[in-house]
Amino acid sequence: MDISKARAIVEDNIQAAMWLLNIQQWKIHVEYRDISGPNDFDGAVAGQCLANEGYKEATIIINAQEISDEEQLLNILRHELLHVAVSACYHTFRKACFEHVCDRHAENALMVVWTRCDEDAVRQLEDVFTHGLNFPNAKAAFDKARAEREDYFTSSTKKKKKKKQ
Ligand SMILES: [Zn+2]
Repeated sequence: MDISKARAIVEDNIQAAMWLLNIQQWKIHVEYRDISGPNDFDGAVAGQCLANEGYKEATIIINAQEISDEEQLLNILRHELLHVAVSACYHTFRKACFEHVCDRHAENALMVVWTRCDEDAVRQLEDVFTHGLNFPNAKAAFDKARAEREDYFTSSTKKKKKKKQ
């Protein structure tokens, strides 16, 4: 996707998303550029968020080259805004733990834990958005989510068995 299209889609949606996530008081800068350098993921990264809870400021980086359509871009935008939404919890954790760490290896290990907890929390919230948790319709959403997960686990089990051969 070209950067001007990505920018137009983000600008059309970011204010509403911020209000719905109750993070409208944040100052969020969006940059459109390549995300390079070492990361915890395989391959290229399409989005990244750096949140500074103390100042209520965040930078979201969108790597438009890695994004194929509007749906993918909006999912990435939601993911990165959820990092902003949960950053207050992790800011507290980080501040409490890092004040007691005086060893570089321990600090690196804590960063790995912190990153993993942050990603897990965001992924759990994404699941709620994707499948919904509106009780009058919860049963239908549950059946859909269970079917998708069963498909995922069935296909990933098959892949693992194939790899062993
Ligand atoms: Zn993430």
